[in-house]
Amino acid sequence: MTEDYPRTLLELERRFSDDASCRAYLFTLRWPKGFVCPACGRQGAAIRRHLWRCENCRRETSVTAGTIFQDSKLPLTIWFRAMWQVTSRKNGISALGLQRVLGLGSYKNAWTLLHKLRRAMVRPGRGRLQGVIEVDEAYWGGDESGVRGRQTITKALIAVAAEADGEGIGRIRLQYIPDTHRATLQRFIQQSIEPGSKVITDGLQAYRELEGYGHDRQIQKQPPPDAEHWLPRVHRVISLLKRWLMGTHQGGIAHEHLEDYLNEFTFRFNRRTSASRGKLFYRLAQQSVRVSPVTFKTIIHHKA
Ligand SMILES: [Zn+2]
Repeated sequence: MTEDYPRTLLELERRFSDDASCRAYLFTLRWPKGFVCPACGRQGAAIRRHLWRCENCRRETSVTAGTIFQDSKLPLTIWFRAMWQVTSRKNGISALGLQRVLGLGSYKNAWTLLHKLRRAMVRPGRGRLQGVIEVDEAYWGGDESGVRGRQTITKALIAVAAEADGEGIGRIRLQYIPDTHRATLQRFIQQSIEPGSKVITDGLQAYRELEGYGHDRQIQKQPPPDAEHWLPRVHRVISLLKRWLMGTHQGGIAHEHLEDYLNEFTFRFNRRTSASRGKLFYRLAQQSVRVSPVTFKTIIHHKA
């Protein structure tokens, strides 16, 4: 399928001026080869208003049912403008900024909308990192004065993996983790990194026995005198992440919501070389119809 997306805000405004045009766009993203019944998997349906009635099992489905747009009181035109704001700005947008720019009546609506979009920023079934990967942990919160201790209670811990791409950085993975126990870090590595890759870590005990999972492991035991060369890629990522959290979001993030922000940062970072901002809009819209709905309640209590 050719990738069809608006290039400019004006194009977006013209093309998605009502909910019907938004629904038509979502339809081609969700069912590029024509309607497929989510209940029975068959094709063929009768359309009544905006419901598709399966010819086989008779179930009625809307294009937004079972997606992040489900049960939203906001019109799709607002959702589309929010997706545009999030993807067209280099650093994204805060909930307060979104509330202002879209003229939303409530901060809670803007906040919830952004969090729902962040859930859609993780592509279901995405591939793991491959090749040479640097792995380390970072702390977030409290006093950002560059503490490098391993024991912390009030700070949030983030596991970071960065793929080497020549001298530069390829893709990244970030995860909010509860502790630096071996099982926790190994689970992160298993979920994030393809077996057979070379994992470069520091000498933390928890990284021992990675070989059991089919990873080659390389340990840098001591930081070299010039600290910039100490796992340089993960540390570059960590510093960009902190700058983004402090800048766009002013640091005001509760630990239980950190994972959603990490997902947005990863989405943005891994597409940073994308030639067109419209293409990011396209990806987000595409993933939004593939990700199951979340409610305000599950976001608040941070459930997957
Ligand atoms: Zn059916």
